[in-house]
Amino acid sequence: MKKFVATLLAVAMVLSMSACGSSSNDVLADGVLTVGTNAEFPPFEFIGDDGQPDGFDIALIKAVGEKLGVKVEVSNMEFASLVTSIGSKIDVAIAGMTVTEERKQAVEFSNPYYDAVQYVILPKDSAIKTADDLVGKTIGVQLGTTGDFIAQDIQDSTVSAYNKAVDAVNDLINGRVDVVIIDKNPALVFESKYSDSVVAVDGAQYGFEVEQYAIAMPKGNTELVEKVNKAIEELKADGTFDQLVEKYI
Ligand code: GLN
Repeated sequence: MKKFVATLLAVAMVLSMSACGSSSNDVLADGVLTVGTNAEFPPFEFIGDDGQPDGFDIALIKAVGEKLGVKVEVSNMEFASLVTSIGSKIDVAIAGMTVTEERKQAVEFSNPYYDAVQYVILPKDSAIKTADDLVGKTIGVQLGTTGDFIAQDIQDSTVSAYNKAVDAVNDLINGRVDVVIIDKNPALVFESKYSDSVVAVDGAQYGFEVEQYAIAMPKGNTELVEKVNKAIEELKADGTFDQLVEKYI
């Protein structure tokens, strides 16, 4: 009898586990893909004139949603909480998010869709020219980003982390930080917006390495990863991807 109960329990466990697996894996079953972003990262994501998130990433994920036959709902949140929200508050995240080994422990990534590098934004009259000049400086970054991680690794740095990148740039202009480290394209957007006061310099000059952006998805959901990769490939093949690059970047 004991053995029978144990077998029953084991069967029930396996059944409930597989039920769990299929329901949690099929994030598309309800016809809606809930997407987290941080709309503070132009031109990849920003708040458009209609008050809604817009930008390259938003257009890309909407096009992916169309290929997958689901509606895309975008949820704007802090960058630093995106990874931990995947699988609970949101299905996936698209936010100019760099693939890192650490993030890979917590989420799956699509194939990379964009190459980037960290840039250095400086006041126009700054004497900071080389990696050595960054030692001991006060560095503005966006919280939880690769720029934040790089800044923390710089010797004797003081890191000021902001939820909004634009606040870091404003503090650079106000003289509260010596330099801002942020991804290339937003750096170029800020440089042209505040061209009277700042310049943006390629981080390769400071030894920063190339990074790749990808869509983050729930850990273990390889089925979704395959579908999203296939959709991205189709968008590249049919010209949509290049049109979006042209429009936004
Ligand atoms: N690419 C950087 C990162 O993944 C910054 C992304 C962002 O601020 N949206 O950390």
